[in-house]
Amino acid sequence: MAASAPLIDRHGRAISYLRVSVTDRCDLRCRYCMAEQMTFLPKAAMMELDEIATIAERFIARGVRKVRLSGGEPLVRRGIAGLARRLGTHIGAGLDELTLTTNGTRLADHAATLFEAGIRRVNVSLDSRDPEAFRYITRHGELDRVLAGIFAARDAGLAVKINMVALAGLNEHEIAPMLAWCGEHGFDLSLIETMPLGHIDEDRADRFVPLTRVFEALAAEIELVRDVHRSGGPARYWRTPWGTRLGLISPLTANFCDGCNRVRLTTEGKLYMCLGHDDQVDLKAALRTGGLPALDAAIDAALAAKPARHDFAIRAGAAPAVERHMNATGG
Ligand code: SAM
Ligand code: SF4
Repeated sequence: MAASAPLIDRHGRAISYLRVSVTDRCDLRCRYCMAEQMTFLPKAAMMELDEIATIAERFIARGVRKVRLSGGEPLVRRGIAGLARRLGTHIGAGLDELTLTTNGTRLADHAATLFEAGIRRVNVSLDSRDPEAFRYITRHGELDRVLAGIFAARDAGLAVKINMVALAGLNEHEIAPMLAWCGEHGFDLSLIETMPLGHIDEDRADRFVPLTRVFEALAAEIELVRDVHRSGGPARYWRTPWGTRLGLISPLTANFCDGCNRVRLTTEGKLYMCLGHDDQVDLKAALRTGGLPALDAAIDAALAAKPARHDFAIRAGAAPAVERHMNATGG
């Protein structure tokens, strides 16, 4: 029966990881992510949190072992704590891990609640530790609030991984000090190549930094030992002298789509099988019109359509790979 069929895509890859954009809205406007005058979905187009939970639970019942709540900024969505609590009840009963990616602006208020819900690790975006550069990159962000959120998370018992998008002329010189700062505080660090997702106010090619270049510079200064840890994504990992992990998420300079284990659910209920393609299946419509059987059939259709790989390229003047921004798909 389709409902009990394992989640294997047409290329033979097992899907065990669901990322959910619980809202496309955000209190920041990071320059590489979105335009200053970004428009968001009307509230009526967004799924209810109960619908998001029902779909995520269906994925868990069918073999997904890890769920990440993301956005937009997940902590601006009212009721997010209730969603986390509900999904958290599946940890140890099908679900290995529930995690969250946040910009940290509201993390100080939510850290203890997230821990109580069963979350043990959070990813926090921090592209600069210089207040002026941070405000410039995010257009609105207050560095102190984010730092307070990061330390509140750590104090609440959450392991913190810092996400940093490498940006030429903005934060490239901060990468080595960021790695040391993360190491001193026990945070893992993932560096990310800027990806061509949606139109922004500048040309991403002007800010693109190949992580191959970054790694060479880091490895010349700091002892980095290859770590076999894989997350089924485009990241490769190294151990740092501080005992923390350095991850390089380099979809432009290294392609790891062969081992892709993930799919992404947007807040309007569309399941995207690849960050870099437009193929999607409307799970909200399936759930609303035909309940769980229709949802299962739609999930099967999605798996049958998952592309083999993305075709990202960053070239001056080139159009984005897809019109959809990262905040819609859920990073
Ligand atoms: N608002 C939260 C945050 O910033 O962490 C969660 C959503 S955000 C879309 C998730 C991650 O995607 C962040 O680490 C962000 O830096 C990254 N991101 C956003 N747009 C990107 C792009 N075009 N290329 C690469 N990374 C991007
Ligand atoms: Fe918001 Fe995250 Fe995009 Fe920055 S990267 S604008 S914080 S969704």
